[in-house]
Amino acid sequence: MSRSIAGRTHGCGDLRAEQVGEHIRVSGWVSARRNHGGVHFVDLRDRYGTLQIVGDEDASSEARSALADLHPEDCIQVEGTLRMRIEGQRKKDKPTGDVELLVEKLDILSRSARVPFEVQDEIDVPEELRLKYRYLDLRRRPMTKLIELRSRANHAIRCALQEDGFVEVETPLLTKSTPEGARDYLVPSRAQKGNWYALPQSPQLFKQLSMVGGLDRYFQIARCLRDEDLRADRQPEFTQLDMEMSFVDEEDVYALVESVMVRLYRDLKGEDLSAPFERMPYSESVRRFATDKPDLRNPLEIENLTAVAGNIGFGVFESVLESGGWVRGIRIPGGAELSRKQIDSIEQAARDAGAGGAAWCKVGEDGPTGPLSRFLKGEGGPEFMAALSAEVGDLLITIADQPRRAMVALDTVRRHCGELMGIVSGPDRLLWVTEFPLFEEIDDGEWTPAHHPFTSPFPEDISALAEGQKEGIRSRAYDLVLNGVELGSGSIRIHDSDLQQTVFSAIGMDVKEAKRRFEFLLEAFQYGPPPHGGFAIGLDRLYALLFEASSIREVIPFPKTATGSCPLTGAPSDVDPAQLDELGITQKSLKSE
Ligand code: ASP
Repeated sequence: MSRSIAGRTHGCGDLRAEQVGEHIRVSGWVSARRNHGGVHFVDLRDRYGTLQIVGDEDASSEARSALADLHPEDCIQVEGTLRMRIEGQRKKDKPTGDVELLVEKLDILSRSARVPFEVQDEIDVPEELRLKYRYLDLRRRPMTKLIELRSRANHAIRCALQEDGFVEVETPLLTKSTPEGARDYLVPSRAQKGNWYALPQSPQLFKQLSMVGGLDRYFQIARCLRDEDLRADRQPEFTQLDMEMSFVDEEDVYALVESVMVRLYRDLKGEDLSAPFERMPYSESVRRFATDKPDLRNPLEIENLTAVAGNIGFGVFESVLESGGWVRGIRIPGGAELSRKQIDSIEQAARDAGAGGAAWCKVGEDGPTGPLSRFLKGEGGPEFMAALSAEVGDLLITIADQPRRAMVALDTVRRHCGELMGIVSGPDRLLWVTEFPLFEEIDDGEWTPAHHPFTSPFPEDISALAEGQKEGIRSRAYDLVLNGVELGSGSIRIHDSDLQQTVFSAIGMDVKEAKRRFEFLLEAFQYGPPPHGGFAIGLDRLYALLFEASSIREVIPFPKTATGSCPLTGAPSDVDPAQLDELGITQKSLKSE
């Protein structure tokens, strides 16, 4: 065995028939106890597995009574001789099932209080309780395994990048705001009252400054902090594999990220991932799948019905089209077989996604049936059906709404129908989505960067940008998508302070404001900044997918709940008034609000 285990001869899970007869010392936690006619058994658990400890008539009475006096989760050390279990008691399904340790000496290292849940692998424990007692939860093999996998994956990344000449650079946590589209977590300065640090939403600016610093190839497994509205798959702090390179274009970044992904699949899953990955411009992705993160394993596609939806006499379609909205449909081959309940669930999915609903029909031998069918009997019907390439046996679903809502609903309905039909399968599909717009319009008619404001526009679009155009300006940003999940984003950056100011101005940040927030970057760009670009992969999400964990919280050792609290420590919590005083902060009374 290559592993060395301080204080012990073996890990509990390491022992096999080959060690029978050897004097063994193991340490761990009491997992289960049994007493069969005066013979005491204890399953001793450590990180490496479980070993049966036995105290029968061959053991000293002192050792036997020590064994009898144990409680679940007591931490003990046992010495003894390994022996074969008697025939008939061997457990072929357990790695150490052939052997047992006859106790000679037992030391109680520490006692355990009564545990709030049984620390057994297969027992279902409410998540809140698991998080409150995460240290007990971590003793369970499935959790230990995920954290070990995470550590191996981080190691694989570090090896791959170090071998490729990348430098691991640690960037500050106490810093100035980096805009990634979220709210900042702020930290008050005691030494300079009234001034605040922001915790980094990402190391974006420092990695760019590292390029100005000539470091050329940067990476970091970095913690990012964003005060966003939380969702099930989001954490207020999360980990990114952050990378940046100088003198590169998109192709170099794609090749780098692909090599890291190939290495992770090989080292962690033993699978050969084929690279280069597929690519698709953003506009095509939105047209065909109504999303910028399509699951390509799902064969369903969106059809644009703008040209035909106004000719079937359906008032809803007409008014949506008149107000500049979308009418789009999805053809589901074989979907006519879905039950009424299943179709109701599709309509519900559309409503949950914010759309008014979904109009549908089934296509039978005698024509369409279902709510939409009465509009398809007239003149415009055949053309409408042809636009959806409808065939007998299909279910046709349509969504009519304002573009943003329609897009979300179509994406949701497409995913839902793919699941209902059981057609989302096959090997992992990794996809580069490219040519994102530089800006997107937010509700109040203002424009915001689609990625972040340091992303370079397409060179061909710079003059239009300089003339004030925002819509349709393409960016050199790209996302990596795995089976419908966005794994990460990146871009080729602006390295020219004038162009940077043009982008700041386009999003309503005048020179004064830009200077206040980003003077250090604009100044650095005065000193020969190299062209550069990079990428960041959200590791929590990637690991949850790679290790087939049910949520990102399973692959984070000490995660927060969906409301951003830590049941283990009680954070966030109030602070001592004296601490606030020291910081020069007065707490507004929350009760009166
Ligand atoms: N900083 C970006 C992010 O966190 C990634 C990048 O552009 O490299 O999404």
